[in-house]
Amino acid sequence: MIHFDESIEILKNINIDRYKTEERYLVDALGYVLAEDVVADHNSPEFPTSAMDGYAIIHEDMTLGTLKIGGINPAGSALSTEVLGGMCIKTFTGSLMPHGADTLIPIENVEVQGDEIIIKEEVPQGFSVREVGENYAKGQLLIPKGTKIDFPHIGVMASLNIANVTVYKKPTVAILSTGSELLELGEEQTNDAQIRSSNNYILEAIVNKYDGVPLQLGCIKDDKITITKEICDALDKSDIVVTTGGVSVGDFDFVKDVIYELGCDVVFKGVRVKPGQHIMVARKDDKFIIGLPGFAYSSTVTALLYLVPLIEKLQQGTSSLRKVKAKLKEPFIKRAKKAEFTACNISLDQGEYYVDFKGKKVGTSAILTNMLGDVALLVTSEEDTSKDVGEEVSVLLFG
Ligand code: AMP
Ligand code: MG
Repeated sequence: MIHFDESIEILKNINIDRYKTEERYLVDALGYVLAEDVVADHNSPEFPTSAMDGYAIIHEDMTLGTLKIGGINPAGSALSTEVLGGMCIKTFTGSLMPHGADTLIPIENVEVQGDEIIIKEEVPQGFSVREVGENYAKGQLLIPKGTKIDFPHIGVMASLNIANVTVYKKPTVAILSTGSELLELGEEQTNDAQIRSSNNYILEAIVNKYDGVPLQLGCIKDDKITITKEICDALDKSDIVVTTGGVSVGDFDFVKDVIYELGCDVVFKGVRVKPGQHIMVARKDDKFIIGLPGFAYSSTVTALLYLVPLIEKLQQGTSSLRKVKAKLKEPFIKRAKKAEFTACNISLDQGEYYVDFKGKKVGTSAILTNMLGDVALLVTSEEDTSKDVGEEVSVLLFG
């Protein structure tokens, strides 16, 4: 078994030969990772533009006190009239500044008498004139490749007239739970030894939440021929196959054997991590297989640790899971000489994160309910020891 840090390093350094991209209509690109730099091909605004409703003037003419209204300049009009000495042009928010004018005096600062304005309150030179390139300048890198597209990016790209955008394809993740004891949602129980499967559903939710496209393949029995066929079919249809169960050392744990027998390159098998030490990551050409352990808490945590980063890696994206520092409100007892990911309650008080374990059960990795509430994962390495109240710890957030 390898050190947890090594497993993460190996995953980080996996070489991807070809990233899949696609063109999407701008608004449908929300949540996708940009596969090209977005560079401004023009200035915004391209010309000096009025930022208020008022009168375009030559600043030094303000000393005259009274100016003649020489025209009207609504937004969207291509006015050719020039502002000459002693004159002004009525100009609105978003109108181009008429030639000759350098200042916009707002409506509120003047009084109109006939075809003249009387200046009641002066403004400095350049007042309310949006300069060329105020918003962005031609040639400026506005959104770098690798950015996950959110609503501000959609707005900025729309202003650049980018109707279609090249993004990384979200990887398809085929999900398969193995175990002869498993019942799918709604399936009738026929003996006491059966349990309801939660893994394949929680994984579908994780894949959806962290930008993959789930392909739900349900539960299959601990039968080697079936497992082989299902994993092969799943590989054909997806970029990543994620399985749960059958990677441990039991007589019916066939998944690991099948992965070897299919001729996959094993990236790693076995990590000194709790939960999830039997985790297996393998590769077949440009496809990946992640064999997660069966226990519900184990498969959930290891999906966050290994599946989510792989989904992100296939899109050249950055991690959505954030590690922060927090202070312990209760002692933490280190139970294993492994990297441990312990469900805890997280709270924020005056800018500082705090951790406690109220209501969290100590027991096996079957306790999925430990993931309910304002939950995070307290992270300790195999070199760490128990910690006291007030000590600083690392916490993985995923809320
Ligand atoms: P395994 O890794 O196959 O030995 O499974 C370990 C434990 O996890 C067993 O107690 C299983 O019943 C349980 N388990 C396996 N698959 C699932 C699943 N899909 N949902 C919930 N529990 C599971
Ligand atoms: Mg099993």
